[in-house]
Amino acid sequence: MRIGVDLGGHTITVARVLLQEGQRPLIDEAAEIRTPPERGVADVMDAIASLAAALSAGHEAEGVGLTVPGALDAYRRYTKRMSNFPKEWDCLDIPNALSRAMAGKGLSLPVKIENDANCYALGEGAAGEAVGLSDYVVFTMGTGIGCGIVVGGRLITGAHGLAAEGGHIVVSGNAPCGCGGIGHSETLAAADGTRKRAEALGLPGDFRDLWAMRGDPAAKRVLDVTLDGMARTVATVCQLLDPEAVIIGGGMSRAEGIADAIKEAAMPYLGLPYREFLNLRVSSLDSKAALYGAAFI
Ligand SMILES: [Zn+2]
Repeated sequence: MRIGVDLGGHTITVARVLLQEGQRPLIDEAAEIRTPPERGVADVMDAIASLAAALSAGHEAEGVGLTVPGALDAYRRYTKRMSNFPKEWDCLDIPNALSRAMAGKGLSLPVKIENDANCYALGEGAAGEAVGLSDYVVFTMGTGIGCGIVVGGRLITGAHGLAAEGGHIVVSGNAPCGCGGIGHSETLAAADGTRKRAEALGLPGDFRDLWAMRGDPAAKRVLDVTLDGMARTVATVCQLLDPEAVIIGGGMSRAEGIADAIKEAAMPYLGLPYREFLNLRVSSLDSKAALYGAAFI
């Protein structure tokens, strides 16, 4: 049994993940709490440690895996930048901070951390749409576009820990991205950018409400930009990595028919040999993917 922790800006979920011989892993029990309002390191670590101690009581836990909503160093120990958390989270030794909080609850377990989108990819490989695959790419489509890449069965993290930022592929234009670059895919393809373009025309900002209106010419024009951004992104990673599957997850992926729409939009960008191999799937684990992945860091 392993403990998986999904640390988000709004909620923290801690799960007991059972590893079953010859079968897919199973989340046996999970608890969700609101992230402490000030998001201070001590409060957050204490909350995680309490839940981990409660869920591991009476069980033989092997370790704790934690998803981190931000960039990590190459050694998966220190955070680089946690944009939705206070400054004290930057350059923080998370395994050490959580180990100390757990020791205070009488719990001594190894702690591993990984970026949240990378955990999502690990979760799809352990229990979702990528079971049995060794080469695949996951995009989490929500406020921003997260990405996780597995090549030859290995999660790609890069020389500086910064690999697989598929939401920041340069696709078109000079629109500024939240990361400091310009022309990145998430400025076009993510829900936030779509909301801004929709609201400027008096259309609904919520992605799924807008998606439901795609018969309307103005809504269609906004959504075509979103789909084009995602299509260019998917085509780029397919031609770069030749994956067995591309899996989309996150809130936007729940819009009915979006996978087929992205696939259709991606076709013209793909060279001929790639077109027959484009295998675009929607995550079946959705919000649980990162939790499963946390247990498999
Ligand atoms: Zn960017």
